[in-house]
Amino acid sequence: MKKIVIALDGYSSCGKSTTAKLVAAALGYAYIDTGAMYRAVTLYFLEHHVSLTNPKEIREALNNIEIEFHYNPKTNRNEVFLNGLNVEDEIRKMYISNQVSEVSVVVEVRRAMVAQQQKMGRKRGVVMDGRDIGTAVFPDAEVKIFMTADVDTRAKRRQVELLEKKQLVNLDEIRENLLKRDLIDSTRAESPLRRAEDAALLDTSHMTIDEQVDFVLERVTSALIKNEEKAVKQD
Ligand code: C5P
Repeated sequence: MKKIVIALDGYSSCGKSTTAKLVAAALGYAYIDTGAMYRAVTLYFLEHHVSLTNPKEIREALNNIEIEFHYNPKTNRNEVFLNGLNVEDEIRKMYISNQVSEVSVVVEVRRAMVAQQQKMGRKRGVVMDGRDIGTAVFPDAEVKIFMTADVDTRAKRRQVELLEKKQLVNLDEIRENLLKRDLIDSTRAESPLRRAEDAALLDTSHMTIDEQVDFVLERVTSALIKNEEKAVKQD
């Protein structure tokens, strides 16, 4: 069966990555967390004092950055490596969350990440979550979902996630960070966060993870059937 691309976009902490991981596992597809890539770039920029207003410095830094995902059987997840170093835990910290959207505005950063993501998904068979997957990275994705949820629900979920990583962060701080990131992400000039015209809207405020996964899988099934029908007609 021909493999497809599944694009999950939306606001911060709507459950995109949890849903994407489970959908990918159910289908035997690769899962690519594009937010992790922007977070890894942010970590590098902070460590190397890269100025966001100096395009030359930015280009040099991007040439020195290699981002890879490796599956860790112990944690049962794909973890992100920056220049060979596992940075999965570091990039989830609040100091990265507080800077990542400013770094993600930079045109050179976006173009480099989008090109890399397109390469990662060129054979299809991927579930990608992010902000611009259905609009810029894979505008031809067979399944596009745009996820949202009310901000208080999102902040509480994020707090639980951080607690699981032994990070105790005040709810107001998390809420503020989510709203700030959403605003920067949706108002930037290059590939802003917005719902693609052909994306299905999924409001997860009152949904369980299983319900979210089922919502996506139903659309995947329809897309796969459509693909098969197209293939039969072409034969
Ligand atoms: O998905 P996550 O919340 O980890 O993403 C962190 C940040 O990375 C977002 O707030 C956004 O600024 C940026 N991002 C982006 N485009 C993507 C994925 C993430 O600009 N495709």
